[in-house]
Amino acid sequence: EKFVYDFAEGNKDLKDLLGGKGANLAEMTNLGLPVPAGFTITTEACQRFLAEGAHVDGLDTEIDQHLAALEETMGKQLGDPADPLLVSVRSGAKFSMPGMMETVLNVGLNDESVAGLSRQAGGNDRFAWDSYRRLIQMFGKTVCDVPGEEFEDALHKAKVAKGVKDDVQLDAADLKELVAAYKKVFVKHVGHDFPQDPRQQLDLAIEAVFKSWNADRAVLYRRQERIPADLGTAVNVVAMVFGNLGPDSGTGVAFTRDPATGESGIYGDYLQNAQGEDVVAGIRNTLPLADLEKIDKKSYDELLQIMATLEGHYHDLCDIEFTIERGKLWMLQTRVGKRTAAAAFTIAAQLIDEGMIDLDEAVTRVSGAQLAQLMFPRFDLSSDPAALTRGVGASPGAAYGRVVFTSADAVARAAEGEQVILVRRETNPDDLPGMIAAQGILTSRGGKTSHAAVVARGMGKTCVCGADEVEVGRDQFTVHGTVVHEGDLISIDGTTGRVYLGEVPVRPSEVVQYFEGDLDPAQANDPLVAAVHQLMTHADSRASLHVRTNADTGPDAARARRFGARGIGLCRTEHMFLGDRRELVERLILAHNKAERDDALAALQPLQRADFLDIFREMNGLPVTVRLIDPPLHEFLPSLEELAVQVAVAKARGSSGEQTERDERMLAAVRRMHESNPMLGLRGVRLGLVIPGLFAMQVRAIAEAAVALAAEGGRPRPEIMVPLVGAVQELETVRAEAEKIIAEVVADSGVEVLIGTMIEVPRAALTAGQIAEAAEFFSFGTNDLTQMAWGFSRDDVEGAFFWRYLELGIFGISPFESIDRDGVGRLVRIAAEEGRAQRPGLKLGVCGEHGGDPESVHFFHEVGLDYVSCSPFRVPIARLEAGRAAV
Ligand code: PEP
Ligand code: MG
Repeated sequence: EKFVYDFAEGNKDLKDLLGGKGANLAEMTNLGLPVPAGFTITTEACQRFLAEGAHVDGLDTEIDQHLAALEETMGKQLGDPADPLLVSVRSGAKFSMPGMMETVLNVGLNDESVAGLSRQAGGNDRFAWDSYRRLIQMFGKTVCDVPGEEFEDALHKAKVAKGVKDDVQLDAADLKELVAAYKKVFVKHVGHDFPQDPRQQLDLAIEAVFKSWNADRAVLYRRQERIPADLGTAVNVVAMVFGNLGPDSGTGVAFTRDPATGESGIYGDYLQNAQGEDVVAGIRNTLPLADLEKIDKKSYDELLQIMATLEGHYHDLCDIEFTIERGKLWMLQTRVGKRTAAAAFTIAAQLIDEGMIDLDEAVTRVSGAQLAQLMFPRFDLSSDPAALTRGVGASPGAAYGRVVFTSADAVARAAEGEQVILVRRETNPDDLPGMIAAQGILTSRGGKTSHAAVVARGMGKTCVCGADEVEVGRDQFTVHGTVVHEGDLISIDGTTGRVYLGEVPVRPSEVVQYFEGDLDPAQANDPLVAAVHQLMTHADSRASLHVRTNADTGPDAARARRFGARGIGLCRTEHMFLGDRRELVERLILAHNKAERDDALAALQPLQRADFLDIFREMNGLPVTVRLIDPPLHEFLPSLEELAVQVAVAKARGSSGEQTERDERMLAAVRRMHESNPMLGLRGVRLGLVIPGLFAMQVRAIAEAAVALAAEGGRPRPEIMVPLVGAVQELETVRAEAEKIIAEVVADSGVEVLIGTMIEVPRAALTAGQIAEAAEFFSFGTNDLTQMAWGFSRDDVEGAFFWRYLELGIFGISPFESIDRDGVGRLVRIAAEEGRAQRPGLKLGVCGEHGGDPESVHFFHEVGLDYVSCSPFRVPIARLEAGRAAV
């Protein structure tokens, strides 16, 4: 087994093994770009280390060999007192986890080699001692768990003693003293001196990076981002280059395009005379990258050249970390850059225009989740509210909430149901829980690449950063004398960077307006709308899976049609029995005899017919699946407990009369119908078999509505769906009755009515071959199918114990949200195969919640279903995913 790869041995496709950073450093090395020499220790070594809790056999020897090669390349020995090689030790997992894991710089410095480093830097003692103090600080904090504040306090004291504000005003002597102070802090917490042996420093730093994979914040981040817990991180050991050697040195971050809007140009931040993480940490305010041209034109030109090379090579937006050491440019990292949802669409469209990618590739570059983000509402600024201040729009969205200043307060207030905005000078990985709990994040420091910005973009959370007029205090912030207290309402706009006092109203997104048909993409002059239009059109042209909607009113049907639905996959008729119609249903349930029952049904029938006609009209020409009534009837009756109390009270008072009699009759009926497990009780097809005339009334209403539309010249395509079937005999019984009614109503109107069933009881899936004999279509009710396959009550589990299941990793996501491929998915496969074997051309769809879930859409495509059906707002998301699944 090989645990260590030289940069020249890897490539960009080895991310599983070398992590994203290692794979891309290797790729850049092989492209001939200026990457400092180094090697990568694999994620497998990390997995082994974490599993075995210690030493990995053979790893040491390999590190020895690669270190020797690195020393040879650099012409220096690690930590050599006279002329030391120094290295950085950097984490780098397969998936980027910004700021979640550890990095140690300047490894190899000690009391002796600090002098050698000074000599290398042309007698720059200040630089050497500053590097040494940084090593002790980073090593102490990350490798030995020394509280970071202790070092910060010592640094603060040194500045106070000297009477200066900025680190750079400390001279060599001050820093030498600071190193002595740091060493005391170190020994106090660790119990031994700061290790002087360079190789020991290196080994301990590597182990610390391995261990940081399981740090709390990393675990939390992975859960949030659904990154598997067992991947481990690679470790990159890289020859140090220094951005803090003076004004001709510096460090920066660059994007080949604007990661927020997708516009091409020069985007990034540069910090002169600074090292490593200073830019990403947002500690000092940075210069725009374009200013580098004035500072160091040669490096600037080379950087632009490299950026063009990288885009041409990766065919995508890249982000870059670089360092300039005395006028020499070095690439420290690149990757295909994270981006906002809007940028993902506009960048994909731009890359098509530039001929870098084709349309198929472009639809894989965007996702349904990103489209969902673009459908969020935005601030309505028509009343022209005055902004309190402005920062960098780092992650788009419109958020308002009450101001909090700590992660813990954000978590606490959010748990009470409040919306909060987390306000910080800058964020660090410890703030993650608060960032998750908050509606949005506002910081006073740092640019588009600060921790707050990167993490918020990844989570799709609104963020404004670097609002430098904001003075953040303990429990209030001020902007030019305006004081905003903890608990005050503010609104932040992650697109424009504006911050407002109070709550600003929101308006629908342009993308929704486009889907609504209110924005013509050809005229909108909005690159985002044009990109969405282009990619959606292509996704539709590629998709083999159609998208229908779940809707039970005319307006919902109409909206879904505008959003691109190709019919209705589920019209839940019980939704038509609510409101003032509930009384009619009560009459039906309480009927004593056939006459009373027929009366109640006769009253319901015209109402149902009118509902169906509305929907058929809106979906003229498209299929409409109407499901016969499904839920347990007691859902339409008053609660047993309340009614029992009411009747008891009335009795005690000696009341009598019509109302009391009715209540008593109702109570008796409710008692009679009470069930211990109503979801497994009298519902679905069982109702149709037990209550004479109920399904017949609905079938008649459907057929009559269809005939009425046909008479208007329309083209109705009704499909009658029977819920909760578990045996073909159930369906056959309902079908026989329905066919008679349909034949009678439809006569020679030319209307055709299909009859099919839901597959939502496991037995139905397992006997699908038989059921297909009586069904012209199947629609998978994956909500009930999941409930019954797992034996999880869909109404109870989420709060009761799913949190624990998620924590234990029994599943990564609730099976009610995303289809359980192995179990429930298997039932779907079996039913699809056996159903089609019995009846070639059997129409297959899904109408459970999974129909609008991106992952599940890909599964249903694989199984070869004809359509998914989902709520109107998820129709565009499912369309896009259906297209992505097909390319
Ligand atoms: C289902 O069970 O998946 C379904 C669509 O029906 P309902 O959610 O109405 O039970
Ligand atoms: Mg169901």
